[in-house]
Amino acid sequence: MTQWVFTFGDGKAEGQSSMRDLLGGKGANLAEMSNMGLPVPPGFTITTEACIWYYANGRSYPAELKAQVETGLAQIGTLTGKVFGDAANPLLVSVRSGARASMPGMMDTILNLGLNDVTVAALGQGSGDERFAYDSYRRFIQMYSNVVLDVDHHNFEDILEIYKERKGLTLDTDLSAADWKHLVGEYKRRVEEETGSPFPQDPREQLWGAMGAVFSSWMNQRAITYRRLHAIPESWGTAVNVQAMVFGNMGETSATGVAFTRNPSTGAKELYGEFLINAQGEDVVAGIRTPQNITEIARINAGSDKPSMETALPEVYQQFIAVAATLEKHYRDMQDLEFTVERGKLWMLQTRNGKRTAKASLRIAVELANEGLLTREEAVSRVEPSSLDQLLHPTIDPKAERRVLATGLPASPGAAQGEIVFNSDEAEAMKAGGHKVILVRVETSPEDIHGMHAAEGILTTRGGMTSHAAVVARGMGKPCVSGAGTLRVDYQAQTMSIAGKVLRKGDVITIDGSTGQVLLGEVPMLQPELSGEFSTLMGWADGFRRLKVRTNAETPADARAAVEFGAEGIGLCRTEHMFFDEERIVAMREMILANDEDGRRAALAKLLPMQRSDFVELFEIMAGLPVTIRLLDPPLHEFLPHTDAEIAEVAAAMGADPKKLKARAEELHEVNPMLGFRGCRLAVAYPEIAEMQARAIFEAAVIAGRKSGKPVVPEVMVPLVSIKAELDLVKARIVAMAEAVMKETGASLDYIVGTMIELPRAALQAGKIAESAEFFSFGTNDLTQTTYGISRDDAASFLNPYINKGIISIDPFVSLDQEGVGELVQIAADRGRKTRPDIKLGICGEHGGDPPSIHFCERVGLDYVSCSPFRVPIARLAAAQAALGKAAAGQA
Ligand code: ADP
Ligand code: MG
Ligand code: MG
Repeated sequence: MTQWVFTFGDGKAEGQSSMRDLLGGKGANLAEMSNMGLPVPPGFTITTEACIWYYANGRSYPAELKAQVETGLAQIGTLTGKVFGDAANPLLVSVRSGARASMPGMMDTILNLGLNDVTVAALGQGSGDERFAYDSYRRFIQMYSNVVLDVDHHNFEDILEIYKERKGLTLDTDLSAADWKHLVGEYKRRVEEETGSPFPQDPREQLWGAMGAVFSSWMNQRAITYRRLHAIPESWGTAVNVQAMVFGNMGETSATGVAFTRNPSTGAKELYGEFLINAQGEDVVAGIRTPQNITEIARINAGSDKPSMETALPEVYQQFIAVAATLEKHYRDMQDLEFTVERGKLWMLQTRNGKRTAKASLRIAVELANEGLLTREEAVSRVEPSSLDQLLHPTIDPKAERRVLATGLPASPGAAQGEIVFNSDEAEAMKAGGHKVILVRVETSPEDIHGMHAAEGILTTRGGMTSHAAVVARGMGKPCVSGAGTLRVDYQAQTMSIAGKVLRKGDVITIDGSTGQVLLGEVPMLQPELSGEFSTLMGWADGFRRLKVRTNAETPADARAAVEFGAEGIGLCRTEHMFFDEERIVAMREMILANDEDGRRAALAKLLPMQRSDFVELFEIMAGLPVTIRLLDPPLHEFLPHTDAEIAEVAAAMGADPKKLKARAEELHEVNPMLGFRGCRLAVAYPEIAEMQARAIFEAAVIAGRKSGKPVVPEVMVPLVSIKAELDLVKARIVAMAEAVMKETGASLDYIVGTMIELPRAALQAGKIAESAEFFSFGTNDLTQTTYGISRDDAASFLNPYINKGIISIDPFVSLDQEGVGELVQIAADRGRKTRPDIKLGICGEHGGDPPSIHFCERVGLDYVSCSPFRVPIARLAAAQAALGKAAAGQA
């Protein structure tokens, strides 16, 4: 018999934290906390396998489930001394979803289940607090009706608002037992109006309704979108947790709260959280009342006049911080905790590894290692490489003038600026139209995910540090200011106003997610500083990695930035990019359009000094590090003159007839330029071009070597080779030029000549090509295009349906297709090494900065990856993790 139900409570559990796949994250950790002897309300978890079964069998349940659920309920009953559905002593439960990966706010929890017109009276009597009983009942009716019966929240909110207004009450806590009792009646009436049937009174019907709703919420639109954005497979399913209720809404010694064991924004070692007295469940994150700080120091720093938990509930506070410390030590990571205090007794309701910013992630990893809780290897493996991107975000220049409109909470760090927009669809549309936008909302909900993605940053006027906006923005690495309560947002008028100042949609603001400030206009920003924990952790990573990390760069600014970021050379200098300059392109066009070799040589003579001085500068910046220079690889059409004015300009420079020139340009027009006259094909047809470039490279190497005393070893790379003879022809010209330059200058030069492997034929012929090539650099962009027969420029329209239908899991231009394109890389590496054991192997496509592709490069044993400057830190960390992962796999 399959075990579909796993119980926990009273210091033991049938599950444990390692059973996350089966029990979901929440269930596995509830079991673990029970096993640790922490105070956890008893309950049981229905496995993710039951959810999978549910979908595989037309949304029905396995036969044994019913009996197992009854056994689970009975066990909770024994531990709590209550009975589910009993009229005199009713057990109430929560029904909570929990998948393997946490999906914040994606599926709704139902609290106080088991209440009905009879049990509510018993609850009032048993607790001696009728107000509490009816407060719990109205919450249950609202949650259950929303989640299970699909009755929108606004129905209940409207009823409540109208009632409060009529009675002149402001806060929910002002309502009496009689008020709630009255409202419960109205709520039930509304449910019946909306659904056509009375609110279900049978607790077992409620329970199965709630469990079914959790399972079906796995396939709701919010969950599907979240999974797509976070690459979570649909096949995982979710677990359901049924757990005895504990009540934070039982008066002044009761409370509910959330906390992180360290600051999730900065990583500082300080307990960080919020709570509310006399409240339940989601009240803290829902922004209904402004939450209170947990620690006294946080209260003082926040300037709050509401007592902290440390002073309001000192004994529970002491117990809570001890539990927090125990959990952090046990999980060896920063924890995100949910708890409830029922009449002075602490109950733990959830623990999980807390989400954090990249900055916090680095600091926590480094400090946990320094505290001896982690090894350095583990610390390096803990930080998500692509999250480093966040640290490379700009911040506001401290010297800049700040015209502060309002200050909210520093919910997610980094600065962002853009035009304000008040809804998510519009944010997406404006972004598509090339605008930078700041999404401004009263608060966000899961329906705003796409708008948050499109926005540079997010600003809300309500909600705390743990509000939806704050949590999601941190996860996305987007700057966010939350709870800027002095701003008034008017969705109807599309305005945001403060103290008589009105900003309209399209007005520009800057938000500072590190201070919480909202600033008027565009404020100067600064590039981030990469010191402190960043450099410590990167230093550790560098010690573990085997792959070298180079950069793709041709401008001095990019090269300098890359060296800052730790690049160990240039893996790809695209020389054609050096000719798009206004003055150079004319000479370039003269060269391309010349009728004969003499004409070409005349144009090349103009280009030589420019090209040489570029290389001198690059070589000086790279100071002795290897530099791979790719010979001209033009899509020819990008250089051809198009307008009559452009043709006239080139004609004048050449002293040629514009009409003839135009005819020549038309002759060179290609139908399919990406598979056309490019790469070494140009050098084969016009070797004098390769000669000029080789001369520029070698002369620059001599000059830069003399100047800096650090001799450069240029690596001259021939693009788009598919036949060994092509490479031989071009290589002969390069070698001859090196000899000539050495003779002319009297200097000696070290250099190597190699090729790109970016065509399937080259990969297959790599053994032969390696007879001439001293290195291979895998041009995986072109190799992907040519292996799939997909043009990268045209792919967008049909790749998306492929991804949506699950034919491929990710765009192969973003992450290397390890199976197919990867096989060609593997073949070329093997065959190349067989011919030339010391052949240098690298990769220089977009994939060089993509962590999964970097893991692949480690497995194939390449020598280096090369990526854009801003990806260099990501690649360094990913390369270290790849090396560590391989070591771990080797040990196992
Ligand atoms: P989410 O996954 O959205 O965090 P949870 O299942 O954790 O949803 O529940 C939402 C809220 O309800 C949490 O704040 C939690 O503390 C509270 N809650 C859940 N179960 C119980 C319970 N048995 N007793 C009291 N509060 C509960
Ligand atoms: Mg939770
Ligand atoms: Mg290419």
